[in-house]
Amino acid sequence: MKAVLFEQFGQAPSVQRVADPAPASGGVVIKVEASGLCRSDWHGWMGHDPDIVLPHVPGHELAGIVVAAGPLVTRWKAGDRVTVPFVGGCGRCFECTSGNHQVCEHQFQPGFTAWGSFAEHVAVDFADTNLVRLPDSMDFVTAASLGCRFVTSFRAVIDQGRVKPGEWVAVHGCGGVGLSAIMIAAAAGANVIAIDLSDDKLDFARRMGAVAAINAARETDVVGAVRELTAGGAHLSLDALGHPATCYNSIANLRRRGRHVQVGLMLGDHADPKIPMGKVIAHELEIVGSHGMQAFRYEAMMQMIEVGKLAPQMLIGRHIGLDEVPQALMAMDRFEGLGISVVTQF
Ligand SMILES: [Zn+2]
Ligand SMILES: [Zn+2]
Repeated sequence: MKAVLFEQFGQAPSVQRVADPAPASGGVVIKVEASGLCRSDWHGWMGHDPDIVLPHVPGHELAGIVVAAGPLVTRWKAGDRVTVPFVGGCGRCFECTSGNHQVCEHQFQPGFTAWGSFAEHVAVDFADTNLVRLPDSMDFVTAASLGCRFVTSFRAVIDQGRVKPGEWVAVHGCGGVGLSAIMIAAAAGANVIAIDLSDDKLDFARRMGAVAAINAARETDVVGAVRELTAGGAHLSLDALGHPATCYNSIANLRRRGRHVQVGLMLGDHADPKIPMGKVIAHELEIVGSHGMQAFRYEAMMQMIEVGKLAPQMLIGRHIGLDEVPQALMAMDRFEGLGISVVTQF
C-alpha cells in the first residue's frame, strides 16, 4: 500500500510503498477513506512524542471501511463504516473497566503508538472496545473531522465541564478545539464568550454561536472584560489553546464555584503554569483536565450531529491528496488556516 513515511524526526516524510497491515487477533484493518491533519501530527514528526518508534506513518483522525477483522473480534466485519477515537482503550485495565477508556493505562493510538492513517490502510487494535459505527447519513470527511478536536471538545464541555443551559461559558483560544467547544456549548444552551488574538477567528467564532467576542490583542484586561460581560464571571471556562496566559485567565475569569477545564496541551516550558490557587480555595473553583473521549460516548454526539444541532462539517477546510501530506505536515507549525485539511485521495 501507499503510506506517508518518515525515517528520522524532523526530516521530510515521503509517500512510499510499504507492506499491507494485517489485523491483530482483537483488531481490524480499515481502508482509509478520509484522514484529518492535526498539529499533533507535526509534534509527532518533530519527535515530541516518546511513543513513536521509527520509521513511522502518522495520521490519527480517520474514517473508513473495515476490510479485515482478527479472530477475536465479535462486533465488526468487513464492510462496516467506522471511525475511532484517537485514544483507544485496551478494554481490560481498571480505567477501561470503569468506563474511562480515554485515560487507559495501555492506550492504542494510531499514528503514535502504531502506524497511522496517512496510508491506504490502517490497523486498529482493541476493535470491539473502540470502533464507532458511522450513521448512514454521515460522510467519511465529516467523520474524520471529528478527529481529536471535536470529540475532545465534546467531552470537555459536556462531560468534564457539565455545562448547563443559560450558563456563561468563556472559551480562550479559537483554533479547532476552541471553535468546536463554542459550537457545542452554544448547542447546549450556554451563552458563549470567545477570546482570541485574531479578528478573523473571532468572526468565525460568532458564526459558531458565540454571543460575545474579546480580542485579547486589544483588550489588556481580559479577565475584567469577561467578568463585566457576565456580571461576575463565567460559570465554565476553557483554555482551548494551552498557554500559561490563557490558562491563568480562564481560571481567574470564573465566578464563585466556577469550573475551569484545561483542554489545550501544555508542553515543554509551559508544563507547569502559574495558577491563582488562593482564588481556587476562597471561591471553591474546580480545575479539571480533559483528554479525548470514549467510543461509547460518540452516540450522544452523533445524534446531535444527525439532527443538525452540531455541524462539525463547518470546520472542514481543504480536501487534499496523500501526496500533499508531507508538505502540509511540515508546514503545520507555520500555517494555521481556519479549517481542517482532510486527506480524501489515496
Ligand atoms: Zn485500558
Ligand atoms: Zn488530532
